[in-house]
Amino acid sequence: MKVCIDPGHGMSNRQMGRYDPGATHVENGFEFQEAAIALRYGLALKDVLREQQVEVFMTRDDATDHAPVGSRAGMAKAAGCTVFVSLHLNDFDDDSANGLEVCFRDSDDRLLAQKLQDALVKVTKMRDRKIKQRTDLAVLKFSGTAVLIELGFIANDNDRAKLVNAQMRDAVVRTIARVVTAHAEGG
Ligand SMILES: [Zn+2]
Repeated sequence: MKVCIDPGHGMSNRQMGRYDPGATHVENGFEFQEAAIALRYGLALKDVLREQQVEVFMTRDDATDHAPVGSRAGMAKAAGCTVFVSLHLNDFDDDSANGLEVCFRDSDDRLLAQKLQDALVKVTKMRDRKIKQRTDLAVLKFSGTAVLIELGFIANDNDRAKLVNAQMRDAVVRTIARVVTAHAEGG
């Protein structure tokens, strides 16, 4: 198993040379960015998987790495990855929208999505928005196992407090690592 970790958005995601912050939310003058929070989760997940001797490839390591959304699945394939985990935050006009959801494309990936959904709802105590089949997301066109995790809503105060909490982040990435590894081993 080799895991591709894909922190959503970032440099050249939609347009070459332009930084895509993803969803943003301003609170007391500070702008929270989906791309930055997803990157922190991605790097933390990388560390946990490497500790467990799992091979990892990152679609981007920092805010300057060029990672066009349409080429990320191909980058992972070229790097020899068998599993693709994309990390995002959700956003909605109404700040009361909240909760966590795992998206997948191929029916083969439904079971992993459900396992992640159940385990992550349990650890975060966020609202269970259920797994969602999405055929429109470019990164889920990855030829192996692929899931996209919407970790919570950036504009919702309760979700955001959890999303930026270091202990919560650690618990979340450890949960993702445990579920993905067990699933790959048939557990
Ligand atoms: Zn996103």
